[in-house]
Amino acid sequence: MPTDGPLVDQYGRVHADLRISITDRCNLRCVYCMSEEGMTFMPRDESLSMSEIARVARVARDLGITSIRLTGGEPLVRRGVVELIADLSALDFADIGLTTNAMRLAELATPLKRAGLSRVNVSCDSLRPDRFAAIRRRGDLATVLAGMDAAEAAGFSRIKVNVVLLRGVNDDEILDFAAFARSTGRVVRFIEFMPLDAEGEWDRGQLVPGREVLDAISRQWPLEPMADGHPEAPAERFRFADGHGEIGVISSVTEPFCGTCNRLRLTADGQVRNCLFSDDELSVRDVMRSGGDDADIERIIRASVWGKLPGHAINEPGFLRPRRSMSMIGG
Ligand code: SAM
Repeated sequence: MPTDGPLVDQYGRVHADLRISITDRCNLRCVYCMSEEGMTFMPRDESLSMSEIARVARVARDLGITSIRLTGGEPLVRRGVVELIADLSALDFADIGLTTNAMRLAELATPLKRAGLSRVNVSCDSLRPDRFAAIRRRGDLATVLAGMDAAEAAGFSRIKVNVVLLRGVNDDEILDFAAFARSTGRVVRFIEFMPLDAEGEWDRGQLVPGREVLDAISRQWPLEPMADGHPEAPAERFRFADGHGEIGVISSVTEPFCGTCNRLRLTADGQVRNCLFSDDELSVRDVMRSGGDDADIERIIRASVWGKLPGHAINEPGFLRPRRSMSMIGG
């Protein structure tokens, strides 16, 4: 394992992107992510404190991490999130993003912008209020749309809207979402359902392949692929050929992009994790809480990257879904 230089794994992938889950708690209960009742959350003292998170981020920055994304759970339910963004902003990352369900975005958009947040991704799986309620089981569509408006008013542009498509549930809204992207300038990204739901009910028949989404949209509005110079980004990007907006597909299951993955994760309880689908985790929390220094944190981060497998293996016969589900890892 290298002890200096970039954060490289055994397959030559250099890591520059750190996803930090700041809580496993959420104010919604989306069907593809959490159980409706009976979710148990980690005791608060098991979560990293905000200063522990900022410390790991600083060490990661010194190892070549340039991009940070806060997620969860729902990051905007954690007290101190605005101050954390300000602390991360002082570390001079090229990019600090946040993925949110937007239930608290209207009230927090301006403080987040002022604290230095660069980009916001909003999850929204239906443009129909009753269906939104059925999929997300708490919250409401109007609040999410108001959150997007507030984010734009606060100065965030090109908001990305994450849509998890489920066969027979919301796959008849592909064109509605494409029209939404065209009329709002928001970048709608269709995400394949991954085997990370808390109930363990995922099956391949429920996911809607990215190819199918592209075919459906381009029959109505021709699409052109965008070469954006970010081959490591999970979304395949397309612009409407008539110039009205952009969409993306994240085909994690049917067209895995592990070969260019440059992402590393830090869970809310301080585990460094090199893949959504790998159960291998190394604790920086335990190292920090037993008096470890920054060099010890560096060793954990390097070891995690070095241990990364070439791919997530979802499509291989022996695939076993990870023990922790999406909200516990951080999406
Ligand atoms: N609470 C925030 C939100 O709703 O965006 C951030 C955390 S959430 C886990 C991050 C992203 O993961 C969301 O866009 C969500 O739709 C997506 N997600 C959750 N479970 C998923 C699954 N089983 N398959 C695909 N995407 C999933």
